[in-house]
Amino acid sequence: MVEIYDVIIIGGGPAGLTAALYAGRARMKTLLLEKATAGGQAATTDLIENYPGFPEGIGGYELTEKMKQQALRFGAEIGEIKEVGGLEDGEGLKLIRVDDLGLKAKSVIIATGAEPKTLDIPGVAEFRGKGVSYCATCDGAFYRDKVVAVIGGGNSAAEEALFLTRFASKVYMVHRRDQLRADKILQERLEANDRIEIVWDSHLKKILGNGKVEEMVVENKNTHDRTDYRVDGVFFYIGSVPNTEFCEGLVNLDEREFIITGGALDTNVPGVFAAGDCRANLLKQVAVAVGEGALAAVEAEKYVEENFD
Ligand code: NAP
Repeated sequence: MVEIYDVIIIGGGPAGLTAALYAGRARMKTLLLEKATAGGQAATTDLIENYPGFPEGIGGYELTEKMKQQALRFGAEIGEIKEVGGLEDGEGLKLIRVDDLGLKAKSVIIATGAEPKTLDIPGVAEFRGKGVSYCATCDGAFYRDKVVAVIGGGNSAAEEALFLTRFASKVYMVHRRDQLRADKILQERLEANDRIEIVWDSHLKKILGNGKVEEMVVENKNTHDRTDYRVDGVFFYIGSVPNTEFCEGLVNLDEREFIITGGALDTNVPGVFAAGDCRANLLKQVAVAVGEGALAAVEAEKYVEENFD
């Protein structure tokens, strides 16, 4: 007989892990599904400095690993999967298609987070893993005494550019405007770091190389002048797209494909909730994701109590 879970949580970043912790403590039969290792995008962040309780900051991997241990301690099961294929609503239960299985649950919390955005320009796909990267924490150490570029002007780009100066001799930060989106404190650190050079008002046009990244071509958007830079690596931090494809057509999404919810983090499908970066919320932060995970679990518990014996 197929097991029926009280709640299945899809995604094992801070939102999903917190939801699993709360659901486990509420003695719900809880399964969390995660692709590869738990932790989500936060796990690939070198140092998280704005999560309360850690005045010196804490490594993203270490923090999310602790969250995972805490969820396991209270009885949540964690299942490693390849891919969630779909979500269906039928006969009171939700059906989740995952790999070759069909899993059943009384309620579902979607906490699938988001993936890094990329640019569709020559060289990006070709050199992925050969100098093109989306994770400075994972790949930064390969660039000791080398020259790298970070594309983007938000908090992620700023933090990762700073992180890369631990290894690289020079970090170009290519930003499409003349002002950064990153927080002021990060802007001050960028200015104070003589290994960082910001290339303002510019778009990356192509990446060139012979088997690996060797050069990038950048165009100034005002003058249309193109400049070639010798670089060994290009790191993309231009925002993210939510992992919501599997629930398209069932769950209402906004124009950028983030999940639309009510105040109880409820979606248009009764019994399906959403939390964290995949949701159309105002702030993508670990602290926010954690709060949303807790709320979604409490609301899922209420839903199950009210709708099932
Ligand atoms: P983000 O804030 O959306 O910034 C994306 C950056 O990439 C922006 O500077 C944007 O330029 C640029 N960009 C977007 N599309 C582009 C394109 N097609 N070509 C060139 N540049 C492009 O994304 P994020 O930095 O990944 O951060 C995501 C969320 O996580 C944010 O809410 C952020 O505050 C949060 N976060 C917080 C921290 C922290 O608090 N320490 C750390 C990391 C992330 P424009 O500025 O011109 O739009």
